[in-house]
Amino acid sequence: AAKHQGRNRFSYYLPSMRNEAKRRMRLSNDLRIALEEQQFKVYYQPIVDLADGSIRKAEALIRWQHPERGLINPGEFIAIAEETGRIVEMGDWVFQQAALQVKRWRKCYRPDFQVSVNKSPVQFQNDETFYKGWIEQLRRLGLNGNSVVIEITEGLLLDNKPIVNDKLLLFRDVGIQVAIDDFGTGYSSLAYLKMYDIDYLKIDRSFIRNLRPDSSDLVVCEAIIAMAHKLGMKVIAEGVETVEQRELLRVAGCDCGQGYLFAKPLPVQAFDALLHQAKQVMAFG
Ligand code: C2E
Ligand code: MG
Ligand code: MG
Ligand code: MG
Repeated sequence: AAKHQGRNRFSYYLPSMRNEAKRRMRLSNDLRIALEEQQFKVYYQPIVDLADGSIRKAEALIRWQHPERGLINPGEFIAIAEETGRIVEMGDWVFQQAALQVKRWRKCYRPDFQVSVNKSPVQFQNDETFYKGWIEQLRRLGLNGNSVVIEITEGLLLDNKPIVNDKLLLFRDVGIQVAIDDFGTGYSSLAYLKMYDIDYLKIDRSFIRNLRPDSSDLVVCEAIIAMAHKLGMKVIAEGVETVEQRELLRVAGCDCGQGYLFAKPLPVQAFDALLHQAKQVMAFG
């Protein structure tokens, strides 16, 4: 698979069965250094209201600005970070950055703006401190819980561990919202949707990619939207790349869209510029 992804990206971490253990150790060590030396950055991708085109939220997506290898996407290091437990520290840092940004954006863009943060199942296994730390951080910043949406995957809920439910309930207590990421790709058991209090379903990109007026994917999307709305959830479509996809989703009643059609994940400055532009369009148009 690495071969197909471009020559340069994989030159350093080229997976070879024989050297796999070594590679992992090196990557794990590099991650530690990266955390110490603050080589990570958070990019933000807009989540757009399909009814009026306004930017309602942003998803925080981590990047690794490597001194020699340039910008590395999370696909290349999240799994290792999970295995080695570094994801906990990394996730806390992303949350901290996201909280600071949402505070700014609530002040200068719109007071109901939200930032969503991905949370790995590993972060739920971990000790009791993380969520208290997060909640405490919001409190210190004077932020409402509903400034933040936590994105989790279906797999986490399938396990049906009381510990997961306890922590979700704690988030719920302070108003933090919960989204199911990549919805439809896991071993979806719809039973969990009524067991937990979920705010958003994010339809996975794989259902959006081939969306056409007469496609079975459109039927699937319409069914997800109808079910979500009846259960009191909102729907965000991932990977919206074309106007046709956006229109089909809008007509189907999908609440929000996210994807390259609107913008790629952006560094803070570029995201600020986008909001600035959007605000003027909203104010004058
Ligand atoms: P995700 O949470 O499903 O994030 C959406 C991914 O889809 C992002 O990839 C985003 O760049 C990409 N994307 C958005 N719109 C489009 C589109 O129109 N077309 C295409 N082809 N792709 C689009 P990214 O940033 O590489 O992140 C990959 C995954 O890494 C994320 O998937 C998430 O599972 C994980 N991740 C990213 N940041 C974090 C983090 O801070 N913590 C944890 N635990 N996981 C993270
Ligand atoms: Mg996500
Ligand atoms: Mg996703
Ligand atoms: Mg996805």
